[in-house]
Amino acid sequence: MKKYRSYKYLIKPSEEQKEKIKKIFAYVRIVHNLYVCDVKEGRNINRLAKEILPIYIKGNPKLKEVDTSALMNKLFQLQESKDKLSYAHKKQINSYTTSNLYIGNGTIIYKGDYVNLPMLKDVEIINHRPLMENSRICKATIKKDNLDKYYISILVSYEWINPKNKLDLENSIGLDYSSPNFYVDNNGYSPDKTRFYYDIEKRVTKLHKILDSCERGSNNYKRCKEKIAKIYKKCANQRNDFLHKESKRIADKYDIVCVEDIDMVDMSHKLNLAKRTYDNSYGSFITLLKYKLEEQGKILEKVKRQYPSSRICHICNHEYKELTINDREWVCPNCHNKLDRDINAAINIRKEGIRQLSCRRAFG
Ligand SMILES: [Zn+2]
Repeated sequence: MKKYRSYKYLIKPSEEQKEKIKKIFAYVRIVHNLYVCDVKEGRNINRLAKEILPIYIKGNPKLKEVDTSALMNKLFQLQESKDKLSYAHKKQINSYTTSNLYIGNGTIIYKGDYVNLPMLKDVEIINHRPLMENSRICKATIKKDNLDKYYISILVSYEWINPKNKLDLENSIGLDYSSPNFYVDNNGYSPDKTRFYYDIEKRVTKLHKILDSCERGSNNYKRCKEKIAKIYKKCANQRNDFLHKESKRIADKYDIVCVEDIDMVDMSHKLNLAKRTYDNSYGSFITLLKYKLEEQGKILEKVKRQYPSSRICHICNHEYKELTINDREWVCPNCHNKLDRDINAAINIRKEGIRQLSCRRAFG
């Protein structure tokens, strides 16, 4: 089975390469705006991208000066989102995607400390982890962030062979989403540090106040804005790092991971936890976990949304309907055991996940 994976690296283009990237961004923007006009006026709508691009180039011969694959990819992307397209003209575009056209060795060649790209030639990359062996480069996206740093995401395809491990139902874990602790597992474990935004909030609020008092466009204003962007970036990096490491740790250790099938957007509205839920990025965590498990032939089992994991006593199965959102601990009226809300829920999620899985296996 063919699978895809993407690798992101910081790149250090030379001044000359930066100028070329800038030019590609600008021309991608021209294509974007031409297409938006076409859609608005009902032109070229049913044509293929490869038919549209020559029309644009005919009207703007300078478009030929840049990597045409970048322009083509922009068109593909716009065609895909045609129905959601905003008719406003783009003022700036800071990314482009180029495809690997397998001509000779290909148009994108990964060389470890350099990556060869159309138009740019060898661009230095900070190679923190090598591309997977025996993978094939499909495309690369070059991006510039608001701190003027450049990144490349390389998408590779590879042939995945299901390891077909015999999965051990006992080697499973249940995770209950917890707003302050990220998650609580059925053994009562929670990761230590998960509230990254919380830590920087005070500093950012203070800097925003300073920013408001600065004259717009002044040097102080720019400096302050950059400082804020740097803090946000660092916070996002830390959070990403955490999500990757934590999901890898769990995926390596367990065969089956059971979670609730929760709607994060709905959850944050309902509980007025928007900021913290956002801070947690539990949704991205589950996505990462799923893919890291599946890669090893393991399973992420989502427990049905209707299942009342918090209200059921895991010892005697009594459903305590009177449980409120504020009860962190409760005593089961049936068996009189004292239960911790989150651990009890995690135990139930694990049990229910295994039950769902066994049912499916028995019938299919
Ligand atoms: Zn009970």
